[in-house]
Amino acid sequence: MNMKQTLQQMSAAAGACLAAFILLNVSLSAIEPTPAKPFYDPFTDEQEMAFGREAAAETDKRMPILDQSLLTSYLNDLGNKVAQASRRPQIQYTFKVVNTDVVNAFSLPGGYIYVHRGLLDFVQNESELAGVLAHEVGHVVAYHSMSNVARQYWLDQGMSQLKQRGALDNQQVVDILQKYGGPILLFADRKFSREEESEADMLGIYNAIRAGYDPEGLVLALNRLSSFTGNPSLVETFLLDHPLPADRVQALRTELTQNPPPAGLKQDSYAFKAAKLLLSTLPPPPKPKAPPHQ
Ligand SMILES: [Zn+2]
Repeated sequence: MNMKQTLQQMSAAAGACLAAFILLNVSLSAIEPTPAKPFYDPFTDEQEMAFGREAAAETDKRMPILDQSLLTSYLNDLGNKVAQASRRPQIQYTFKVVNTDVVNAFSLPGGYIYVHRGLLDFVQNESELAGVLAHEVGHVVAYHSMSNVARQYWLDQGMSQLKQRGALDNQQVVDILQKYGGPILLFADRKFSREEESEADMLGIYNAIRAGYDPEGLVLALNRLSSFTGNPSLVETFLLDHPLPADRVQALRTELTQNPPPAGLKQDSYAFKAAKLLLSTLPPPPKPKAPPHQ
């Protein structure tokens, strides 16, 4: 064997080692997505939060918000725990309860997250609720709501025009985004793509784990939703908003098998049980208003 052959063999061996190292590293390391702000989104966190405040004010006018301070405070404590463990903790997160039986939750830009009362009835322990909240926080972390608006704005205006305008104050941003975001009221009904849902799921389990919650909570809640046997009209919104729960359960189980979470993560709490008890003592949600007669 001459020197050249030896060098070639050594180089091949080194290459194989490197490939094995990379493969090993990939299989051992978590694959939590690291979302970056899209290039067409020029808005600061403050501007996004200002827009979110407007969207939330409109949503509050349109939907029956449950004004029960203990319940809201519990939801905000839990929600902020998972939000602070997220990759975007600098946003100010606000959580509200919508007083309907619908099994659903949704997020607006700027950290405004709404949970329908039907979802609070549906979840069976604190890790399930933490998982759902962590999923909604995932949409905010990954700029999903904001990017839809920003994309339209960018397509229409282009970055150059934006730069010419110089710094915008918050009200100017709200005005612009209302124009380009379409009717602000539609935010609650906006559907995310399947890719966005998968990304929010993946971010959700890591948010939950870092906040100390068992990520199985989100998986179990999704799994039960996929075989929900109650009134279909109550869950329809959630299924439309969050497509193919069975596929999402499978993807999350694969992730958690490849990257097992630490043992001993929290599943339940007395505060959760107390919140459920409190919920059961409240009068039922108001009946939805019938559409006006034609
Ligand atoms: Zn979602």
